[in-house]
Amino acid sequence: MLLCDNRQIIEKPSYDVVVVGGGIAGISAAVASARNGAKTLLIEKQINLGGLATVGLIAWYEPLCDGKGKQLVFGIGEELIKLSVKYGFDCLPPQWGGNPQNKNPSGGRYTTFYSPMTFSLALDEYVRESGADIRFDTYAVYPVMQNKLCLGIMAETVSGKEFYPAKVIIDATGDATVCHRAGMPTVDGQNKLVYVSHGFSKKELENYDSEKDLLSFRKWNWAGGNGFYAEEKDGLLDSSGTTSDSVNEFIKAAKKEAFSIIKTFGKNDYELSSIPTMPQFRTIRHIVGETTLDGTESGKTDVGDCVGCFSDFRKPDTRYMLPYTTLYNKEYPNILAAGSIISAEGEGWQVTRVIPPCAVSGQAAGTAAAMCAKDSLAVSNLNVVALQNQLKKDNVALEF
Ligand SMILES: Cc1cc2nc3c(=O)[nH]c(=O)nc-3n(C[C@H](O)[C@H](O)[C@H](O)COP(=O)(O)OP(=O)(O)OC[C@H]3O[C@@H](n4cnc5c(N)ncnc54)[C@H](O)[C@@H]3O)c2cc1C
Repeated sequence: MLLCDNRQIIEKPSYDVVVVGGGIAGISAAVASARNGAKTLLIEKQINLGGLATVGLIAWYEPLCDGKGKQLVFGIGEELIKLSVKYGFDCLPPQWGGNPQNKNPSGGRYTTFYSPMTFSLALDEYVRESGADIRFDTYAVYPVMQNKLCLGIMAETVSGKEFYPAKVIIDATGDATVCHRAGMPTVDGQNKLVYVSHGFSKKELENYDSEKDLLSFRKWNWAGGNGFYAEEKDGLLDSSGTTSDSVNEFIKAAKKEAFSIIKTFGKNDYELSSIPTMPQFRTIRHIVGETTLDGTESGKTDVGDCVGCFSDFRKPDTRYMLPYTTLYNKEYPNILAAGSIISAEGEGWQVTRVIPPCAVSGQAAGTAAAMCAKDSLAVSNLNVVALQNQLKKDNVALEF
């Protein structure tokens, strides 16, 4: 017999802004919101911050510059790259603050490897210092809706069913769970099988040279299709990551593939130092916003409703502006999206889903949310020039 869920709801204190998801986008959003005076809560289902960029073991911060020497990402995106290497190794090129001995595989762009575990602990402090509250081990289950207005987030914790009321909600879940469950139109993605783990070999230990940095102990170990390059390893499963079945199929197949590689190493020759604690999906789901980036916007210079700039991590000499209208669907007056779920598809999704643009959209969403909460505005009614002026004050570049 099925029992219905008649547990009492635990009502939690209300917030101006609740951010769901403590990855790079959610952290940027929460910090921007708190710094702009909003009472802010960051909800994270795991017990560590950083999402794919830390516990997902994606420890390569894609470039903040255009590959021609011009920096495009400033503000929180730059604070975070600096924080990522503050307490651990880096391979920043010297022109971007690195050691002259550093070898950077990108040919001198403003990018680096970092220690994902140290970065994660540093992120706790970073969010705390902004004044935002954090709730770990709190699974946002669904947005409580009154028509298209979101009254707050219902979450599941070890205490039971908890309700977090809020004026503005930011979905930074990486899979648009909040927006999707609110009824907002969304589009599913497709993911090639992938499993990145980290480890080092005995040979690397033997060759250890104290002059070298510790990066050699955090070699990426790829399994599965490495790819946004869809042609690679065809035959391996494609997965959306939007159903429990597809997540289970993906993660079981990815681990099997990875373990088959690990078993080829001698038992005393290789140490597997970290395995990911979340599935490494690149593109799970994105919202359908007021405008959608499709990748054809590269090089446009009309500032319009731009809330930040970034470059295509794969191609030097490319520049993009991020329109505010990619962060919301105006039917939903108090929900914003940030990170890899903003309104972008195809090439537009490829260029916006990596760490620097996720920080850019997060900072924009957090700033907008704080302003909307303060003046009781629908996200689509916010004065974009006022938002742009605030972002400029907060060190964001809006043109190149
Ligand atoms: C294989 C792979 C390789 C990549 N390589 C690079 C690279 O080299 N460089 C680069 O810059 N980028 C790379 N990326 C992309 C980049 O890592 C991510 O796209 C980016 O970090 C996403 O940030 P996010 O904050 O949008 O989402 P996520 O990092 O996915 O964070 C979402 C957070 O929300 C939490 N969450 C989700 N649902 C809930 C819920 N219901 N309740 C509470 N919390 C919830 C999750 O636990 C997670 O912490 C790669 C991605 C993949 C998968």
